[in-house]
Amino acid sequence: MFKYVGDISKISHYIIDKFLENKNIAIDATLGNGYDTDFLSKKFTKVYSFEIQEEACKNYSERKADNVEVINDSHHLLKKYVNEPVACIMYNLGFLPGGNKEITTMSETSLNSIIEGLELLNHGGLMTICLYRGHVQGKEEESVIIPYLKELPKSKFGVMYHEFLNRSKEAPILIVIERK
Ligand code: SAM
Repeated sequence: MFKYVGDISKISHYIIDKFLENKNIAIDATLGNGYDTDFLSKKFTKVYSFEIQEEACKNYSERKADNVEVINDSHHLLKKYVNEPVACIMYNLGFLPGGNKEITTMSETSLNSIIEGLELLNHGGLMTICLYRGHVQGKEEESVIIPYLKELPKSKFGVMYHEFLNRSKEAPILIVIERK
């Protein structure tokens, strides 16, 4: 097992913890089993967590911390629920591990959510995107999200792409976006 070159979710937690000074408000755009929300809730004052699966929302609500608001709706409707600047937004795209693989994030809603999320991100804020391209929808997400992020103005955003060079071309990628 590797300590660093392994789990991209862990790397995203590390980056957020290490480099983000302002830890007021965070959004977990894909609650799932709640591991990212667990992390965020320990570090941030307030966390909004989006999830389309009612069952996952119910399960997590039973153990959620007081500073977490679980929102059973799609993350492309971010601005309907959050109308203040946020320091951090996490995307862990794809389907729920151990769940129904048919219920997965989709390229159009993921991209729309990322576009809205970048507008909500405050100065110095971080967005992390874990993208799994080993399935059809993941490949589609890669094909629409990456070209969009490549065109973000460098005067406003820094965009970094983390890829395993010696693994399959379908290995997951981590993208980190920092707002100046
Ligand atoms: N962050 C999670 C964790 O720590 O366990 C893992 C997330 S899992 C890879 C992706 C989740 O996104 C699934 O639970 C899926 O139901 C959810 N999802 C799919 N489309 C969504 C959407 N449009 N808005 C919010 N959540 C969505």
